[in-house]
Amino acid sequence: MKYYSTNGKAPEADLHKAVVKGLAEDRGLYMPEHIKPLPKEFFDNIDTLSFQEIAYTVADAFFGKDVEAESLKKIVYDTLAFDCPIVKVEDNIYSLELFHGPTLAFKDVGARFMARLLQYFIRQESNEQVNVLVATSGDTGSAVANGFLGVDGIHVYVLYPKGKVSKIQECQFTTLGKNITAIEVDGVFDDCQSLVKSAFMDEELNKHMKLTSANSINVARFLPQSFYYFYAYAQAVKKMKEEGKNQDVVMCVPSGNFGNICSALFGQKMGLPIKRFIAANNANDIFYNYLQTGKYEPKASKQTIANAMDVGDPSNFARIYDLYKGDHSEVCKHISGATYTDEAIAVTMRQCFSATGYILDPHGACGYQALKDGLKDNEIGIFCETAHPAKFKETVEGIIESEVAIPERLAEFMKGTKQSIELSKEFADFKSYLMKQ
Ligand SMILES: *Cc1c(COP(=O)(O)O)cnc(C)c1O
Repeated sequence: MKYYSTNGKAPEADLHKAVVKGLAEDRGLYMPEHIKPLPKEFFDNIDTLSFQEIAYTVADAFFGKDVEAESLKKIVYDTLAFDCPIVKVEDNIYSLELFHGPTLAFKDVGARFMARLLQYFIRQESNEQVNVLVATSGDTGSAVANGFLGVDGIHVYVLYPKGKVSKIQECQFTTLGKNITAIEVDGVFDDCQSLVKSAFMDEELNKHMKLTSANSINVARFLPQSFYYFYAYAQAVKKMKEEGKNQDVVMCVPSGNFGNICSALFGQKMGLPIKRFIAANNANDIFYNYLQTGKYEPKASKQTIANAMDVGDPSNFARIYDLYKGDHSEVCKHISGATYTDEAIAVTMRQCFSATGYILDPHGACGYQALKDGLKDNEIGIFCETAHPAKFKETVEGIIESEVAIPERLAEFMKGTKQSIELSKEFADFKSYLMKQ
C-alpha cells in the first residue's frame, strides 16, 4: 500500500517510510491510497468473532500487503491484550470502555500497535537501535512509553515540563525504567516540543543516533484505532439480538485532534454499518463551527476539565477533509457536532451518576451528553469512554461528590520509584545529553 500526503506536495511513501517518518516532507498527513471494503459475510458474522479475529481482518486490509501475515497477526494479538467492552448505561445508550489498557485510556491501542510495527521494520532493516523522542503534556507520554515498554531495539525518551503534569500522569512514565527514559524539562510543554523538533533537524545528532517520532498523526497509531469500532458494532449486534431489537447504530466520539473519530470514519468506508457519527467537543468548538459554517478557523485552545480535548487546530481535520474531498455537505452527512462548557460537563456527570450509577470521566461525559441530546427513535448510541474516571480523580470526585476507586494497575504505577533526568530548556543541553548515549 502506498501512502500519500494530504498536502499533495510530497512523494508517496510505503508503510515502512510512513511509520518511521510520521509526517510527510510537505508537513501533510499520510493517507492510505486505498481503503479496502470488507466483504458482506464478514459483517454478517461479525458477532461470532473475537476482538482479535475482527481486528486482524481489519489490520490485514490496511497492512496485509506490507507485513507478513504471521507477524501481523502477532502484532495485533499482542496489542489487544485487554478488552474494550460496551457497557449499557441506560436504554439505548452504551459506553465503549476504552480504558482497560495499561494507562487507562484509548491511546494504548495505537501506541502498542505502533511500537510493535516499528520493531518489525527495524528487525528487517538492521540491528541498530531506534530512539523515539516524544514530548508530552501528560497523556501521550504515558501511552507511548507503555506502548514501547520492553520492546527490543527501541529506546524511548519522554520529555515533559517539570511540575506541569499531574502526579498520576508523571508516575506512568517516570517509574517504568527498562528502555524508557523520562526527561524533566525546566520549561513548558512547548519547550519540550521544540527540543524534539530541533533534535530531528540536527544533522550531527542524527548521524550519532537513529531518531524517530511517535506522533498521534502516525498512521501506525491512528489506523489501529478503527479496530474497536468494528468490535463495538459486533457487540451491539449481539445485544440487539438478545433484546430482539433492530436499531441503527450511532457512534459518538469525544474529540480533540480528531484521530479517534477519523479512524471510525475509515471503518465506515470499509463497510462498517454505522449510520452516523457525532463528534463531541468541550468548549473548543472549532470543528463544531466548521459544521455550522463550512469555514475552518483554528483558534488558540481553551483550557477545560476535559483537557485531552483542549485542541484549537485539530491535526486530523486534514484527513477528514481529504476523506470527503473537501465537500462540506458530505462531511455534514456523516458527522454532526456538539460542544459543552465545563459547567455543562459537570451537570452531565452528576446527572448520569445519580440516575444510573455510572461514573463518567469529563471526556466521556461530552460523548454521553451528545447522545442524550441527539439520539433519534430507532437508534442505539455508543459513546467512547476514552479514559478511566480515576485518571481525573480529583476533578471527578469534586463533581460527583463520591469516591472514585483507583484500579489496581494505576495503583501499581503510583507505588513505583520516580526516575528522571533533569535538563534545562536549552537545546545544547539536550543534545549533549543525547550525544553521550
Ligand atoms: C487523546 C484523548 C481524546 C481525544 O482524542 P483525539 O483522537 O485527539 O480526538 C479524548 N479523550 C481522552 C481521554 C484522550 O486522551
